[in-house]
Amino acid sequence: MKLGFHVSISQGFDVTLEKAQKLQCETVQIFVKNPRSWALRTLTEKDIAAFGRLSAVLPVYAHLSYLPNLAKIDSDERNLKGLLHEASLCVELGIKYLVAHPGSHPDKLRGARLTAQAVNAVHDTYDVAVLIENTAGQGNTLGTNIEELARIYEDIEDQGKALFCIDTAHLFQSGYKITERGGWSGFIREFDRLLGIEKIGFFHLNDSKLPAGARADRHWHIGEGEIGLAFFKQLLKDKRFAHLAGVMETPKMGNMDEVNMKVMRSLLPARVPRSPS
Ligand SMILES: [Zn+2]
Ligand SMILES: [Zn+2]
Repeated sequence: MKLGFHVSISQGFDVTLEKAQKLQCETVQIFVKNPRSWALRTLTEKDIAAFGRLSAVLPVYAHLSYLPNLAKIDSDERNLKGLLHEASLCVELGIKYLVAHPGSHPDKLRGARLTAQAVNAVHDTYDVAVLIENTAGQGNTLGTNIEELARIYEDIEDQGKALFCIDTAHLFQSGYKITERGGWSGFIREFDRLLGIEKIGFFHLNDSKLPAGARADRHWHIGEGEIGLAFFKQLLKDKRFAHLAGVMETPKMGNMDEVNMKVMRSLLPARVPRSPS
């Protein structure tokens, strides 16, 4: 699996590249704009050139900013506008994948339909695929289990395009017993039955500060949380996902990115050298 981090863009894409390279990232996830503001962003030629230098070296995945709620596109027009704006920035930059949380709605069935409509709007308008992320299960958030993800997927028109991003901390916090014997394989079996294993397109590799089933979201450093190293080792050696990329969204504390990358790399199975042909 190609490993990387979510890396800040606040100092420009050249600094993002510098940071990613220093951390020996093989992939990177970014926000395409300030994630805490509704303000639209205009990319300058300089931005686009700097981004070109970043994406020439590393595969880049975008993560939708914090504000748009995909399950409420009917009650606040900013939600859909914000989503489409970020998808348009992805197109300008040449990013193919946009990770998005499915949003929250008190009526989960209705929310799922609206989220699917939001994803459809992106797919209809832009050459960007939405990676729908599973969530920890806080409040009314959708996508806290495979059934809820499947309910959204049902209403997605271009099912060949939509994919899912599996966040390991969210999975654990939402109640999947992935650290117990057979827990991970059970999850994958169920995911495969309802959605198809090939629909997993990306990973968020986070340990959890909170115990299993906490239904709240708190990421933690790899091996120092409640999930622990054994799970990540199992995931990294799972050949079914070896072709995919995964990023850590662990808290930025001191040199912990360096430490987390070192720990993660130590868990990767040895790469078998290709025999000369
Ligand atoms: Zn996320
Ligand atoms: Zn995540």
